[in-house]
Amino acid sequence: MRRWNGWGDEATVVELPAHGAAFLANRIGAGQPLADAGLEQVLARVPASRLDAHPLISLDVETRVRHARGQSLPDWLAMREGEFGQFPDGVAFPETPQQIRELLALAVERDLVLIPYGGGTSVAGHINPQAGDKAVLTLSLERMNRLLELDEESLIATFGPGASGPQVESQLRARGYTLGHFPQSWELSTLGGWVASRSSGQQSLRYGRIEQLFAGGILETFAGSMELPTFPATAAGPDLRELVMGSEGRFGVISEVRVRVSRLAEQESFYAVFMPSWGQALKGIRSLAQARVPLSMLRLSNAIETETQLALAGHPGQIALLEKYLALRGAATGKCMLTFGVTGSRAQNAASLKQARRLLKSFGGVFTGTLLGKKWAENRFRFPYLRHGLWSAGYVVDTLETATDWSNVDNLLGRIEESLRNGLAEEGERVHVFTHLSHVYGEGSSIYTTYVYRPGGSYAEALARWRKLKTAASEVIAHNRGTISHQHGVGRDHAPWLPAEKGPLGMAALRTLARHFDPEGRLAPGVLLED
Ligand SMILES: Cc1cc2nc3c(=O)[nH]c(=O)nc-3n(C[C@H](O)[C@H](O)[C@H](O)COP(=O)(O)OP(=O)(O)OC[C@H]3O[C@@H](n4cnc5c(N)ncnc54)[C@H](O)[C@@H]3O)c2cc1C
Repeated sequence: MRRWNGWGDEATVVELPAHGAAFLANRIGAGQPLADAGLEQVLARVPASRLDAHPLISLDVETRVRHARGQSLPDWLAMREGEFGQFPDGVAFPETPQQIRELLALAVERDLVLIPYGGGTSVAGHINPQAGDKAVLTLSLERMNRLLELDEESLIATFGPGASGPQVESQLRARGYTLGHFPQSWELSTLGGWVASRSSGQQSLRYGRIEQLFAGGILETFAGSMELPTFPATAAGPDLRELVMGSEGRFGVISEVRVRVSRLAEQESFYAVFMPSWGQALKGIRSLAQARVPLSMLRLSNAIETETQLALAGHPGQIALLEKYLALRGAATGKCMLTFGVTGSRAQNAASLKQARRLLKSFGGVFTGTLLGKKWAENRFRFPYLRHGLWSAGYVVDTLETATDWSNVDNLLGRIEESLRNGLAEEGERVHVFTHLSHVYGEGSSIYTTYVYRPGGSYAEALARWRKLKTAASEVIAHNRGTISHQHGVGRDHAPWLPAEKGPLGMAALRTLARHFDPEGRLAPGVLLED
């Protein structure tokens, strides 16, 4: 069963290993565990619903609790403390586009606010109801999860918008196909959510981001249904798919999604290479991207992330042996782990592997074979569970991300890390900060930073510390040529920094679009656009 107050399935537990706890204690001090609230306690606090009974709507208290918060750090703290703030008044479970249209009509008739809800994995405050006079209806797409059509000649699949990662892949794989979209939230996030928040999967290098995969579909709006037909390419004016991608529930509800799929590859494998320094590693990864070596995935950890990963990995004896071997081959202190994947036919993969190895060797890379790559593939969706292990040990962990041009990657990364590392210095607190690059392009790269800090003595303190850190890093991003989000979207948490990126005219255009599709401002108010 899905956790009501954290990440993922209750059956999966990832503890912080003892040497990992010692590593963190050494870096930022001993953990400070806080007490968690119980579900019963929270259920007792849910106010009566302001909605009338309706066949498509659940007013069940636990269902309302389970759809009240996403997965951002403020969400996490609210759920653990049991102080949820606002709950939706009800959760609707439509099964057809027609029922979505009926719910839109109901929202007008009863003067409701509507929040489209995919998997609820937002990490930017997208799906939280806000206090207000109007009743809030969350619209869960979870029952619209089927593969509706597969055009095997054109490689286009039509899905209900609520299909989660596993539902998408299992239905396609049964027919010999894959979407190839694997965000780390894959277990729970949905096709509609990926489109609405412009998601990027771990193997975007081969399959593309959702922008490349989203071929068309239907958007249900207060102004009517907008159908986006599929074309291999078109010069017929601006592409309306761009209005839907990143619309974050503000313009309408995506009721059908058509995606470009691929035949399952013959073979796939992942490898790890250790680069002797960050400078050499950056040159190596940039060269791989710009030479268009056909890899399916690339991830470069900086030296601190490499050290942290090895410390948290378990098996200290084996890690010590690995470190000894790497040091002998020239990758000692300051080394950076680079993981890459090849996906395709055996012949293609052999050629790609050869090209990647040769290129990385020219920058001093030490190839370690498939063992660490296999571990990465096995654990690729397990890392988020570690938030629980860290929390129990008394540490708070959050991540943030951006993208910028290659000429600015090193500068921006350094400034983000510095803003976080020194962010709590006035309170005498240290913050453990590390980064990787995981979506690389010919022109630049995403930057994904993780930070771990101590919560202080209370939930209020933990949240205040997060606010300080998040604001400092977001200011750095906005003023140093970074996008406020490469893959998590805007939501409410990033909305204050969107004008710096879009400019006044761009913001006015977005507001006009929102008013066009939703004249009374009923859909997800405050998300994407603050007003
Ligand atoms: C542990 C973890 C790891 C993550 N890793 C990644 C990653 O690797 N890559 C990445 O891109 N993101 C990642 N995310 C962020 C998140 O998973 C993505 O933003 C994802 O696209 C959200 O999908 P969802 O279905 O959960 O949408 P939700 O969180 O339910 O909603 C997100 C937004 O989309 C809107 N929406 C959802 N469905 C519809 C619909 N049918 N019609 C209209 N609007 C809709 C909602 O109103 C909301 O504004 C991660 C999150 C977590 C918690």
